[in-house]
Amino acid sequence: MAIDESPSYFFSPWPDRLRHSAIILLAAGFALAVLVAFGGLSPILAGAVFVCIAAAALVPWRLHNAVTSREDVRGVNPVETAAVSAVVAGMPDPAVLLDRAGRVIHLNAAAAQLAPALRKNELAQFALRSPEIISALREAIATTESRRATYLDHVTVFGGTDKCMLMTFHDQTPLRRVEEMRADFVANASHELRTPLAALSGFIDTLQGPAKDDVRARERFLGIMHTQATRMARLIDDLLSLSRVELSAHVRPDTLVDLVPIIRQVADGLEPLARERQVSVNIDLPDGPVLIAGDREELLRLFENLIENALKYGASGGKVIVSLNSANSGEGAPEIRVTVRDFGPGIAPEHLPRLTERFYRVDVGDSRAQGGTGLGLSLVKHILNRHRGRLLIESVPKNGATFTAAFPQAKTPATV
Ligand code: ADP
Repeated sequence: MAIDESPSYFFSPWPDRLRHSAIILLAAGFALAVLVAFGGLSPILAGAVFVCIAAAALVPWRLHNAVTSREDVRGVNPVETAAVSAVVAGMPDPAVLLDRAGRVIHLNAAAAQLAPALRKNELAQFALRSPEIISALREAIATTESRRATYLDHVTVFGGTDKCMLMTFHDQTPLRRVEEMRADFVANASHELRTPLAALSGFIDTLQGPAKDDVRARERFLGIMHTQATRMARLIDDLLSLSRVELSAHVRPDTLVDLVPIIRQVADGLEPLARERQVSVNIDLPDGPVLIAGDREELLRLFENLIENALKYGASGGKVIVSLNSANSGEGAPEIRVTVRDFGPGIAPEHLPRLTERFYRVDVGDSRAQGGTGLGLSLVKHILNRHRGRLLIESVPKNGATFTAAFPQAKTPATV
């Protein structure tokens, strides 16, 4: 950050120095010539005086340079250079460079946006509103040591030297949000596990105690225990699938898979549930293969969740239609769309934006009664994200729901 004080004049070659001193030499020569002409000075003496002046002019004095560099030090603070300004401007977080008194030397656009009252050459103490930040700034001024303050999810750090201080702000809101989400997730998952676990241990107590010799009660309780154990297993299964998909979220699947047999396999697997719920499943798929870059296991999981939801929550409609089409996305990119439509009670519009949140259910009791975990659509969204696809949900209450999984069309050799 120090300015270049190299004495260029000092090191310049003598013809340059001669050029710099030309005016002095000319003036001296002229004055001496006049004195000689009017007899005031003998030519020899005049010649000697001129040689002295010329020698003095050509001596590599640092005088000229020393003066300018002293001016630089006095007039332009080394931290006020364009280079320092560029560094501050280029910092991604809001940053303000201050002198030791707290006067603003440079600030970047992000800092100006965060604290619009900050002005160059004015004291930052008067422009900042947070008492925490102001007192940290005062301490940094007094001690020349780094200080850190937190205000409204922003961490402010002051670091400095004996000449200047750098004040940077770091927004911790996203970090905090992730922490909150993680805490919520753990709380929800524990709660979901605790409920069936409590039921299981309750029935174990009953079977060991009052219902010890009651064969009918034992049969009934064992049936309930089986359901609860299945629910726990399903929850753990969904949690593991979710964490697996999240871990590989940034790795896009690169194997080409055919969607048609995958959808058929899922529909076949869900036939017993469809029969139990008395729902007819119409499958409308093309004859030929439909290829996308995908992960087969994840796609099985995705369609299983969508079709199973339609069978569970839309059973009253008696019919589910699964179809596959190609269409163009909003941006005009070709897409493969798999649509699962049911004719059940549908979903009220206020729930639609939240359906893919973990553990979000429209009706918790209904979901639990259906063996749901509240993680299905969240998993669907994550799988689609990994496949660079998207989930579209449309619903007219009392007239069913339509869930569409849209995938970007695979770049097969023919389409590249
Ligand atoms: P769950 O394990 O509870 O089924 P999901 O994430 O799959 O969890 O679904 C979240 C909620 O969305 C469900 O609890 C249900 O209330 C609602 N839902 C999902 N699919 C449908 C549908 N086809 N019709 C009506 N509601 C649905």
